[in-house]
Amino acid sequence: MRICIWCNKDESKVSFIKKAHTFPQSLGGDSICDNVCDLCNHYFGSPQSQSPAVEVVLKEILNISKYLLLNQVNEIPKNKRYKSEYFNLNWEKKTIILKPRYSLRKGYQEKLGRLFRRGLYKVFLEERERQRGDAKDSRFDFIREFARYNLSDYPIYYFKPKFGAVFFSSTDANKPMIRFTEHSDKLDKDLRAYDYLIMGHNFCFPTSRHFVDLYLDYYKKYLKEQDYPFGTEITPIKYVEDIDFTFKYLNDK
Ligand SMILES: [Zn+2]
Repeated sequence: MRICIWCNKDESKVSFIKKAHTFPQSLGGDSICDNVCDLCNHYFGSPQSQSPAVEVVLKEILNISKYLLLNQVNEIPKNKRYKSEYFNLNWEKKTIILKPRYSLRKGYQEKLGRLFRRGLYKVFLEERERQRGDAKDSRFDFIREFARYNLSDYPIYYFKPKFGAVFFSSTDANKPMIRFTEHSDKLDKDLRAYDYLIMGHNFCFPTSRHFVDLYLDYYKKYLKEQDYPFGTEITPIKYVEDIDFTFKYLNDK
């Protein structure tokens, strides 16, 4: 009997006909989470009252980095341009601006940042279920509340890049996924944090609703003490601009 990790309903109440991609298919994702019902799957891909779909925001932002990364290794035809509903891109200057019709709307920037975080949490929990099968654990309830029901607010952190180089593999850029390892299990257990590289950016996902109050200070200390390879400084993502998704830091030297 399948039970949806988002709404907790089983096959007697909801259908499970459509395939739920953990990373959006339009980003290259091809991993499927079986325990997502059609209603919840549909929710993440649909715009809500005056708000873009969670998956669309995630896809558009990560696709910018994806295109830039693949361009570096000449895997994208030169004439294929990145198209976005929300952003205007200047490839030469590597700048991204919210399209005027969105930027004029009050609070839109915060809204996009929040949708982006919800999208990352959505991917995290579905990948967790796919690989570990424990997404229904009550410690992940805060992710359900935030990502699926748009309640409360929880952070995702962006690692300030440490070296003048981007870590990425074109396999991961073409078919994004996250992995759970012994290292990530230990960090999850000790500091209730999980971090992974997505499209050349390292993100930290809290795995407890009490992360900020109970673990954040220890986690920051840990990153410094370990001289953590993917960065020792983290910033909570408020606006999507908080992420250097055009890799400007590579030109700073
Ligand atoms: Zn559901």
